[in-house]
Amino acid sequence: TFDVEQAKKWIITFNDKIQENKEYLTELDQAIGDGDHGLNMARGFQETVKKITEGKYDDLGSLFKDVGMTLIAKVGGASGPLYGTAFMKASLALKGKKEVDIKALVEALAASLDGLKVRGKAQVGDKTMIDVWEPVIEYMKNHETIHSKELTDLSKEKMDDTKELEAKKGRAAYLGKRSIGHIDPGAASSYLLFASLAELLE
Ligand code: ADP
Ligand code: MG
Ligand code: MG
Repeated sequence: TFDVEQAKKWIITFNDKIQENKEYLTELDQAIGDGDHGLNMARGFQETVKKITEGKYDDLGSLFKDVGMTLIAKVGGASGPLYGTAFMKASLALKGKKEVDIKALVEALAASLDGLKVRGKAQVGDKTMIDVWEPVIEYMKNHETIHSKELTDLSKEKMDDTKELEAKKGRAAYLGKRSIGHIDPGAASSYLLFASLAELLE
């Protein structure tokens, strides 16, 4: 099962990974964007962790709502509203739930993915975070038991696969074919998000 404590742990672990990889995410975004993805994510999730460690939550919905609202408020750029939307959608799906089984968590994350796609209008293959999110959610939907290592490996593989793609959405799309040969920064941060979730399932 997945409860408020585990959800907090997920966000805290993700923030740790973001802070550790801040320079790396910055370098990726320097290659095909404006070089702020590391900073945007590091600032946003630092604020988010501060908020949720100070807060008391009776249910997963109110916790994820605070996560989403903090990201929308504190993170500029494309990634703030996108990650914010993802957590707001999960919050709606988990409203009033103290704890859920993994299946319900996956359903909430599927709602997050739908929200991301509506908000950003990107499809698989456009070289964005969707290239990690969609196959990962598909994998989790289709497996009764989710293996931690499979989840991590799949997210990493999908992140790596963005290297060969030409960007069709976001700032990198302005580069056209010159975006080929670089991993998408948002796909890289999304890999860290799912790797953090995988650690909880170990
Ligand atoms: P900005 O590009 O505004 O500076 P960030 O650098 O923080 O914002 O985030 C860039 C990342 O956001 C990209 O690497 C990509 O994964 C993601 N992204 C950008 N536009 C979209 C979109 N329309 N749909 C999905 N993801 C997107
Ligand atoms: Mg950027
Ligand atoms: Mg920017």
